[in-house]
Amino acid sequence: MMSFRSISKEALIGSATLGVFFVAGYYFGKRKSTYSSMDIFKSHCGAKDNPLMQYVLNHSLREHPALKKLRLRTMEDSWNFIMVACEQSQFMANLAKLIKTKKAIEIGVYTGYNTLNVALALPDDGVMVACDVNENYTNIGKPFWKEAGVDHKIDLRIQPALQTLDDLLAAGEAETFDFVFIDADKVNYDNYYEKSLQLLRRGGIIAIDNVLWSGRVVNPAPDDADTQAIDKLNKKLYRDARINLSMLTVGDGLTIAIKL
Ligand code: CA
Repeated sequence: MMSFRSISKEALIGSATLGVFFVAGYYFGKRKSTYSSMDIFKSHCGAKDNPLMQYVLNHSLREHPALKKLRLRTMEDSWNFIMVACEQSQFMANLAKLIKTKKAIEIGVYTGYNTLNVALALPDDGVMVACDVNENYTNIGKPFWKEAGVDHKIDLRIQPALQTLDDLLAAGEAETFDFVFIDADKVNYDNYYEKSLQLLRRGGIIAIDNVLWSGRVVNPAPDDADTQAIDKLNKKLYRDARINLSMLTVGDGLTIAIKL
């Protein structure tokens, strides 16, 4: 039986991997100050104050040993609260496998917990293009990717993700990817979405994290650029005839967009 009791409450929040450190600091402050009872859907790696959620975890979460080690190592980091929720990550790995994903992209890696989870779901010749700008964090994940025997599938690109997506398009890889996970700086979400949609094959999936943003999307403050960007994208996707979608109340909100 896995134990999550050592994980702090903040670590359970689970959230975006952000591109640059000052943005993460800004984000941390905003989230800390506004986190509230609106987060009724909070459901992360440990749930000692939520027996039902703990039951869900105890009866569904299956972590590869290297994945568990990476989670525990990530919990030692002061920014651990931005790690994606374990059960959400497992769901996305299952989703990627369900649609027989061979080529995946992750926009926002942090220490690479979800990167590893999805890489484990890919065939041996599959590829996960992992986009981030902070090598300090991705270096934490690398030894565990290797331990799990999937490091050869992970193509880590340390540069702004928009540049990497443009590089992939320029290399003629449009409509060849099966699965994309967007979980980086929120003001660029729409740009990530549009480029990802170009790179995706029909029937491929874009998963977008933090679409409920701790409930702030219900009433976005005019000076809150992150919430405004998320809300704007949520409204756009609702009317986007290029996709089918579901908005799930897992973690901090997860939109699943399926390319038509
Ligand atoms: Ca996130």
